[in-house]
Amino acid sequence: MQYPEYYISLEDKYGAHNYHPLPVVLTRGQGVHLWDVEGKRYYDFLSGYSAVNQGHCHPKIVDAFVKQAHQLTLTSRAFYNDKLGEFEKYITELLGYDKVLPMNTGVEAVETGIKLCRKWAYEVKGIPENEAVIIVCDHNFHGRTSTVISFSSDPDSKANFGPYMGGFLTIPYNNPEALAEALKYKNIAGFLVEPIQGEAGVIVPDEGYLSTAKKLCEENQVLFIADEIQTGLCRTGKMLCCDHEDVKPDILLLGKALSGGMMPVSAVLTNDEIMLTIKPGQHGSTYGGNPLACVTAIASLAVLEEEKMADNAMALGEYFREELVKINSPFISAVRGKGLLNAIEIKSKDAEAAWKLCLLLKEEGLLAKPTHGDKIRFAPPLCITKKQITECIGIIKNSLEKLEE
Ligand code: PLP
Repeated sequence: MQYPEYYISLEDKYGAHNYHPLPVVLTRGQGVHLWDVEGKRYYDFLSGYSAVNQGHCHPKIVDAFVKQAHQLTLTSRAFYNDKLGEFEKYITELLGYDKVLPMNTGVEAVETGIKLCRKWAYEVKGIPENEAVIIVCDHNFHGRTSTVISFSSDPDSKANFGPYMGGFLTIPYNNPEALAEALKYKNIAGFLVEPIQGEAGVIVPDEGYLSTAKKLCEENQVLFIADEIQTGLCRTGKMLCCDHEDVKPDILLLGKALSGGMMPVSAVLTNDEIMLTIKPGQHGSTYGGNPLACVTAIASLAVLEEEKMADNAMALGEYFREELVKINSPFISAVRGKGLLNAIEIKSKDAEAAWKLCLLLKEEGLLAKPTHGDKIRFAPPLCITKKQITECIGIIKNSLEKLEE
């Protein structure tokens, strides 16, 4: 075993500086807990940006993964394998879609959704070639590819990565009137939206926003594309965040917790009319739909269902927010969230206060990370218990008391 400084210096010297991690070096995870190289235990309140909804190293997911790893891991889609069809049947029946297209990372699911939407626009809706427009929201986060950052409003994500991809129209989030206006433009093919804007600081739209947006899209023959990569798979207290408003997206994007944190697995679900616009050779991925991913994804979805993680997220999310408000700290200017996707906003003269609070939380045994400066996301694994949440509230309270003006 080496000192933490050793591992940090290795990453610093040999790795790209594209992240600014908290100074903690982790070596083990189980359930809601992580351990650093010196043996200290922490509550994980980030859950790998909501990829580890099922808890770290969930035994059922690990078993399925290891068993399949000994059997067959990758065939490519040049051949059939005996696990892909099983996964496709499982996930489409579970979520009520005709078909699924499996990919790897979240942003690949977003790219796939964009490509499907455009293909449908030209071949079904009849939009003239290269004229299709997809409406997106201000302060969105959909990933890091050059197409996806082309419609980001975050200067850090975007600056000096141009030239940018065209065909996107940005409107304010949580604003049905702006959507109605934008839908009047020519050649609108789709509306891409996060049901809650996670990276922007857990921005929860008004009740009715998603159902109104879906209705407006239907009236205008425009595809409603929901990016549930962070909000989906029980995180917000329902299987999908759109379920809170009984909205069924035309194109559904999933990622992250689809593998319980084991490996990158993402998926795009839609109906035949849209999915079958893509023909053999027109889209794909070497790893997409590999047997290891398929088996891991089935186990990850089964665990969410068997352990009623949506119900737990719903009940404990409410309890968590109530207890956060009760702390009544002068440093907290807002508490918001849905299920176990939550955030606090930090009010302080010190621009570094949110970062400093995260360092104090780390000392007290809880790992969380600021998002966009003054906001801290609190998103523990969904297997957390009420007793553990209560203990974590104590940690947050103590840390806030130690924070200085
Ligand atoms: N979409 C949303 C809403 C996300 O939160 C993320 C990642 O945080 C992505 C897409 C991109 O996923 P990935 O990092 O796996 O490419």
